[in-house]
Amino acid sequence: MRLVLATHNEGKVRELQELLASTGFEVVSLARYPHVPEVVEDGETFRDNAIKKAREVSAAVGEITLADDSGLEVDYLNGAPGVHSARFAGEGHDDAANNKKLLRLLEGVSWEKRTARFRCVVAVATPDGRVATAEGTCEGIISTEPRGENGFGYDPLFFVPEYGKTFAELNSEEKNAISHRGRALNNARKILDNLIAG
Ligand code: IMP
Repeated sequence: MRLVLATHNEGKVRELQELLASTGFEVVSLARYPHVPEVVEDGETFRDNAIKKAREVSAAVGEITLADDSGLEVDYLNGAPGVHSARFAGEGHDDAANNKKLLRLLEGVSWEKRTARFRCVVAVATPDGRVATAEGTCEGIISTEPRGENGFGYDPLFFVPEYGKTFAELNSEEKNAISHRGRALNNARKILDNLIAG
């Protein structure tokens, strides 16, 4: 059985493929379906966006589809960047610009007040219109300078106290074991198992 990943983000595709390797699905990315238009992520919550992406892509490709919507919630910024994480520094800007903006907004803010979490909602949709969701979070602190080369997005600034490292300093296995996406997918396992079982 095939499972299509509704994302064009290659960093995410790699992580999701590792996390879904043992599900029994043939996991393929959207790169296989170049005709599928980009889904507009205009929801107010991660859940709204994940459901919208999974539904639209599933209808377009005619396969079971998994979408995730995720982002960073910084307590000092009242939960920002949240659903706007990917385009925090503005449309067309990259990860480096987003990280720079985050550091600027937290300049002079003490370590105790730099608490944050990554949140991820996974939606699985079937071509006949069924959809189910699961969620995962990971708590951390926004570091005062970037560290590490792995991962993507805000990883170099997301410090995990238990490991004494940023996400970008963890290898993919270590990150997957504790990340918001890893936890959301773990929580989605039952949904996927039920689909495989028919
Ligand atoms: P999405 O593609 O709409 O889910 O946007 C997610 C955005 O949140 C990404 O572009 C990153 O900026 C950020 N993000 C989500 N998950 C991660 C992660 O695991 N590491 C670093 N940044 C992440």
